[in-house]
Amino acid sequence: MSLHLSDITLTYPDGDSRLTALDHVSLHVPEGSLTAVVGPSGSGKSSLLAVAATLIAPDAGTVTVDGTPTTGMTRAELTALRRRTVGIVFQQPNLLPSLTAVEQLQVMARIDGRKPRGARERAMELLDTVGLADQAGRRPHQLSGGQRQRVNIARALMNDPTVLLVDEPTSALDHERGAAVVGLIARLTHARAVATVLVTHDRAHLASADRIAEVHDGRLRRTATVP
Ligand code: ADP
Ligand code: MG
Repeated sequence: MSLHLSDITLTYPDGDSRLTALDHVSLHVPEGSLTAVVGPSGSGKSSLLAVAATLIAPDAGTVTVDGTPTTGMTRAELTALRRRTVGIVFQQPNLLPSLTAVEQLQVMARIDGRKPRGARERAMELLDTVGLADQAGRRPHQLSGGQRQRVNIARALMNDPTVLLVDEPTSALDHERGAAVVGLIARLTHARAVATVLVTHDRAHLASADRIAEVHDGRLRRTATVP
């Protein structure tokens, strides 16, 4: 149960030529570990996550999820793989305004074809894990920014992913709440043996990471193990 990016190159159309967003990037994320990805704006961090999530196919290179190479999979196979194994947390929580916190999670299970009853219990368990058991009946506008982001994280865990991909989850939060959210992601990563990639612009968060990968101009410049 791990995530492996091998020699990934990704380009986007750019007028008459192509812009290289990722340039021969390789990254291995073992289960139960958190890799923080840092780098300046425009360096390719979100592109790296989109490729890891199999949302964008790279020009070259292989994404391997839980030992299965995803190259050559059909769209339907990739969708099924994502539902089963990948949890994604974007910058903005994108919660549905009309649903309560627990319902935001239950919707995920319905997509997965699970029975709503078991799903409700699982959703409540996860809300409890992220410290929101008492907010289960609230809608997004009744929650703080930090609470919404915690619902977002709990939702990403609903289908028990083995890979968790998180893109700047704290950009809308103050420093203290941001640190709490990153601490939570680190704890869940270790407790659930998830392979997590966390993109962050805040170097203070690096203390929660097991490894740090630095991206510059689409190249992975350095990976370091946090002592
Ligand atoms: P980061 O997340 O580090 O800010 P991105 O991965 O979003 O970086 O972007 C990397 C580079 O690719 C940037 O130069 C950006 O302008 C370009 N880029 C990102 N997405 C697209 C797209 N959909 N089409 C064209 N260029 C893109
Ligand atoms: Mg980005």
